[in-house]
Amino acid sequence: MPTPKYSRVVLKLSGEALAGEQGYGIDPEVIHNIAVQVKDVVALGVQVAVVVGGGNIWRGISGSARGMDRATADYMGMLATVLNALALQDALEKLEVHTRVQTSVEMRQVAEPYIRRRAIRHLEKNRVVIFAGGTGNPYFSTDTTAALRAAEIEADVILMAKNGVDGVYSADPSKDPHAVKYDHLEFFDVLSQGLGVMDSTATSLCMDNQIPLIVFSIGDATNIRKAVLGEPIGTMVGGKSRD
Ligand code: UDP
Repeated sequence: MPTPKYSRVVLKLSGEALAGEQGYGIDPEVIHNIAVQVKDVVALGVQVAVVVGGGNIWRGISGSARGMDRATADYMGMLATVLNALALQDALEKLEVHTRVQTSVEMRQVAEPYIRRRAIRHLEKNRVVIFAGGTGNPYFSTDTTAALRAAEIEADVILMAKNGVDGVYSADPSKDPHAVKYDHLEFFDVLSQGLGVMDSTATSLCMDNQIPLIVFSIGDATNIRKAVLGEPIGTMVGGKSRD
């Protein structure tokens, strides 16, 4: 059996990654395929925590652009992440992977509240922990949640699964034919060049706490495995250069 490079990872799944082709809502087949990949890396002995987004259902900023109170719209976004978390939990449990969902907004009937030490204990027992509800605060993102939880549980790396793009480019590759893909970047480059990897709050948190990030496409079903084995996929931000 191959030896993983990382022993504890945070997998960030954006809402879009769960929506598949349709671009909105939850696609059970897409979630099943992701669950198969997660099961595969759990079998390698890797401790996996997942942070799920909610953009496939609701984004606070869009609601606020249409006149809603921003904080209220953000709470709706946080609730959307819980829907995704439950769908992922269902898919994983169907594959006999043990899971726990922890929410930062309490919802005792459906999930545990977020308790850091308890999350770590679950991971040590090889349960997949799915973090839902974002940070529990409006004006933040689930990317920031991934950075925060990764710091709290002392994860080795954040695996940032993207939908439709296989790494970080100098410009939008769908618009600029001269866009080049980076193999490695520093967080400072992401901030100074305004690269669309994650928002600046999340980027700063990763930078200040030296949490490396691997940005890759969820479209390739072997990518999560390759990432935990340390094979060069997508773009690495922070950490050591691959050269
Ligand atoms: N959100 C929030 N605080 C958080 C995390 C998320 O208010 O700590 C809200 C915010 O409105 C956001 C929505 O939840 O737009 C969905 O999260 P996000 O946009 O990060 O999801 P993704 O882009 O990963 O699908």
